[in-house]
Amino acid sequence: MARYQHEPADVREALRRAGALGADLDLTLLDTRAATAHALRAVNRRCGETIDVDAFVARLGPPIRQELAHWVAPERIPQAVEVFRDCFLSEGIHLLRPLPGAGDLADAVTAASRRLVVITSRIPQVARRCLTVCGLSTAAVVGGVTGPEKAAPMTAHRIAVYVGDHVLDMQAAKIAGIPGIAVTTGSHRAGELRQAGAAWILDDLTDLAHLVRRTHTGIDDTEP
Ligand SMILES: [Mg+2]
Repeated sequence: MARYQHEPADVREALRRAGALGADLDLTLLDTRAATAHALRAVNRRCGETIDVDAFVARLGPPIRQELAHWVAPERIPQAVEVFRDCFLSEGIHLLRPLPGAGDLADAVTAASRRLVVITSRIPQVARRCLTVCGLSTAAVVGGVTGPEKAAPMTAHRIAVYVGDHVLDMQAAKIAGIPGIAVTTGSHRAGELRQAGAAWILDDLTDLAHLVRRTHTGIDDTEP
C-alpha cells in the first residue's frame, strides 16, 4: 500500500473552513476514456469521419465539441456531437468506472456534512447521468464550463478546494483564489501540474478522502 502523502498546510486549513469541495469529472472522479473512445468510433463509423481516437482520448478535458473541431468540418460538427452523445449515453455509459478513491471521497464529504460540487466541461445532464451510473452522489453539478470559466462557479458555490487532473483546472483554482489539488490520473504529469499552480499532487483521490475524514473527525487514521 502506498504511503500516505501528507497535505500542505494551506490545503488542510482551506478544508477546515466551512465550504464545499469542488471536483472535475473526466479523469478525476471517473475514468471516461473507454466510453469516450467507444462513442468516437461510432462517430467515425456512422458519419464517415476519421477522428484519431487515441489522440482524442489522450487529451480529454476541453469540451467535446471543441475537440471534435480538430478532425470534423464545421458544418458536420452538430451531427457528430449528436451521434457522440447518443452513443456515449446508450452504450458507452456502461464502460465508465469511478477512479480510485472517488466513492470514498464522495462518502467522506457527505459524512463531513460538506457539499461535493462537480464542475465540468461535460453538459450537466450527461455529467449527472455518469455520476449516477457510477454510484457517486453529489450536492450539485455545474456543466458546460472549461478552463478559467470554472472559477466563477467555484466562487458562487463557496468551494474551499478544487481537485482536477488538468492544468486548466489548476489555473481556474488559482483564479478563484483557492488551493488546486491535482491528481495524475489524467494526461498531465506532476511537473506540469505543479507548474500550473497545484498545491498538492496525488496519485489518485484516496489520500484526499482520508484528509476529509481526518478533518471532520479529528482522528488521524494515516499512522501505522
Ligand atoms: Mg478532467
